[in-house]
Amino acid sequence: MAGGIINMEDCIFCKIVRGEIPCKNIYDDDNFIAFLDVNPKSEGHSLIVSKKHYKTLLDMPSSLGGELLDAVKKVGLDLIKENNAEGFNLIVNNGEVAGQIVHHVHVHIIPRKKGDGVIIGDGKKLKDREVLDANA
Ligand code: 5GP
Ligand code: ZN
Repeated sequence: MAGGIINMEDCIFCKIVRGEIPCKNIYDDDNFIAFLDVNPKSEGHSLIVSKKHYKTLLDMPSSLGGELLDAVKKVGLDLIKENNAEGFNLIVNNGEVAGQIVHHVHVHIIPRKKGDGVIIGDGKKLKDREVLDANA
């Protein structure tokens, strides 16, 4: 999906929330749903999505933070159990420059197993620790 302004009618996650596009739903509460990512990085890779359209985490009211964390914990534990995983990565891409493709706030939960070979990010470092220490 290219950048630009996306309204709620055209937003793919709003369509999923409204039931207009099918998804593998795994969680539902008053403010969030979760479903399997269509292009998973690991078995069980899921997205927690706000029911209301907020573009990024910065647009979402902080009052929803507690409920979001509850959802993360419930979904995370569930995904660990269901996929025999040992942990998970939690990722929020905020803005296109950070890799956000769908402009509707969502949290990635990526279940992890030892030696699964999943690569998160490009592994690039800003500078070596020694350089940072010398500059400090
Ligand atoms: P972003 O880069 O915006 O954080 O990630 C968007 C995620 O949404 C991607 O991992 C992509 O695979 C997933 N995605 C995009 N469209 C759909 C869809 O229609 N259904 C589902 N289940 N996932 C989607
Ligand atoms: Zn939306």
